[in-house]
Amino acid sequence: MKISPKHVTYILIILIIAVGALSIASAYTGTGFSHDIPSSKYYDMSSSDILSKYKDTNCHVEEKATCTKVVDGDTIYLDNGKKVRFVGVNTPERGVEGYITSKNFVQKLCLNKKVGLDIDDSKHSDKYGRTLAVVIVDGKNVNEMLLKEGLAEIMYMPPSEFYPYDWANSNTHVADTHSSSSSHTPKSTESTTSSSSASYVGNANSGKFHESYCSSVSKMSEGNKVFFSSRDDAVNQGYVPCKICNP
Ligand SMILES: [Zn+2]
Repeated sequence: MKISPKHVTYILIILIIAVGALSIASAYTGTGFSHDIPSSKYYDMSSSDILSKYKDTNCHVEEKATCTKVVDGDTIYLDNGKKVRFVGVNTPERGVEGYITSKNFVQKLCLNKKVGLDIDDSKHSDKYGRTLAVVIVDGKNVNEMLLKEGLAEIMYMPPSEFYPYDWANSNTHVADTHSSSSSHTPKSTESTTSSSSASYVGNANSGKFHESYCSSVSKMSEGNKVFFSSRDDAVNQGYVPCKICNP
């Protein structure tokens, strides 16, 4: 086949689009994260209700200060002048679904309270001058709680002293021994259903399950995906239906 100038133009256009798409993908800054956990989930819970679900962290409190402002679910201001960016996690930005819930959760735990910081030894601050740290309230790791509650996604940016994948996967929930019903904590063990035949996709982190076409599925990290061939399968494993796609 003879290659005409017209063909060359087409090929160039396709190349430009492809390169553009790739650069958008690689320029991901973690701002697109959203979740659909209603803020009402925490209305009736006190901070001690939430904290009591978690074991003490082995992170060390290196300094303490009072939280004077919660900007969003992953950024707070302290009375010692520090702006703190919760290391290893990313919560929805203002205007994105889930922003209010994640922010309210952090307000409930931190606002006007003394919080501890374990500052990232590998990288003390980000490019905006915010201190990168694990925020510790009553001995509990709030960064880890945000992940476990499904209120944040993992944002691992090495070099870092902390490895957030360990927080998301570790079993640091305190066993609920006095509950009569069996645990509703979703199992994160692998399902036998393969991804190709699955109609439903669960998020081991949030405990929700979705129709496979739900937009939440494309935002889910691969490590959190659990596949189900039937709705009953998902429900039996303790997953709750997404309010957007209504599986
Ligand atoms: Zn959904």
